[in-house]
Amino acid sequence: MSRPSEIIIDLDALKHNCGLALRAAPASRLVAAIKADAYGHGSVEVARTLNEHVDVFALSCLEEARLIREAGITKRLLLLEGCFSADEYTACARLNIDTVVHQQEQIELLHDATLSSSIRVWLKVDTGMHRLGVAPDDAVTMWQQLSDISAVSDLILITHLASADETDNPFTERQLAIFAQVRQELEKHLGHSVDTSIANSAGLLAWPDSHGTYNRPGIMLYGLTPFSHAHPMADKLVPVMTFQSRVIAIRTIEAGEKVGYGNTWEASQRSVVATVAAGYGDGYPRTAQSGTPVLVKGRRASLVGRVSMDMITVDVTHIDDVSIGDEVELWGQRLSANEVALWAQTNGYELVTRMPLRTLKRYVSAQISKTE
Ligand SMILES: *Cc1c(COP(=O)(O)O)cnc(C)c1O
Repeated sequence: MSRPSEIIIDLDALKHNCGLALRAAPASRLVAAIKADAYGHGSVEVARTLNEHVDVFALSCLEEARLIREAGITKRLLLLEGCFSADEYTACARLNIDTVVHQQEQIELLHDATLSSSIRVWLKVDTGMHRLGVAPDDAVTMWQQLSDISAVSDLILITHLASADETDNPFTERQLAIFAQVRQELEKHLGHSVDTSIANSAGLLAWPDSHGTYNRPGIMLYGLTPFSHAHPMADKLVPVMTFQSRVIAIRTIEAGEKVGYGNTWEASQRSVVATVAAGYGDGYPRTAQSGTPVLVKGRRASLVGRVSMDMITVDVTHIDDVSIGDEVELWGQRLSANEVALWAQTNGYELVTRMPLRTLKRYVSAQISKTE
């Protein structure tokens, strides 16, 4: 038997979620965030699947973008953190890669770069997240500096939202107001309108005022809601990744006996414990607490004891006829990675993104069971 833990990637679910993103903002163009190996789903496979549905793929750095080009994908790409040397601009021009400019130093490097063709620049404004972006007061000057560079063919004004997943948080309105002010000032200065991009998944789904020329969803494409509450559209997303394994041992223990490293869980009654071949070495979070839901034969059970490198232990006392070889879902289409994440002090983004190479991916095109 080969190692039973594996990741199933449902490419039909990916297309379904992309369709939802397109319908939720029909007037905008779509930039699909496929950074960090498409949030752990495999950036080349994801790009191939979404290629005809999106306008741009967003990556964090040149190394990630090269992998897409090496796979023969010619779609427009965008580097979300921009370039960090003149050579990187040279490569962007050669490979048809758009780049973010978020600080003055990047404009100096662009001046120094030898470019074989023109380049599109997304000027990022810091509207309050204070991670990347130029100060709102500097935006018009920097836009002008960029448009004075002859190799810059196109400019897009962009920002990023810090709290769009909290749909009653007024911080998003403040960010949108600052962005609108910068845009107005810029358009007055230029005498024409400019292309914009603000929305991540949460903005796209919950903040229509954040829709721009381009929206930049990531997590929703992979079928995870960005919200911690119900949301009519987000609830139609279908998870793309299913992390599954199998039961490899079963035992019955008496009340008072303990399970796993450190003896952290004690049986309060005679219990049946199933050992599953998936641990932190396979991508299951070690921080998951006793009580974390696990699906055994499609039924909910609870993680008990500490997560080991290669195994977890699950209380299956209430499930009849559990046998060695039975299928276990750690998260996926029947158990949300977001729910598991709550038990491990993290979020669904991190769980799907940090899967190790050991856990092999299998790409499928299954029928969508969840209908709209
Ligand atoms: C990752 C990223 C996105 C996508 O965010 P989601 O919350 O996954 O939709 C959008 N914009 C920028 C700048 C990002 O870094």
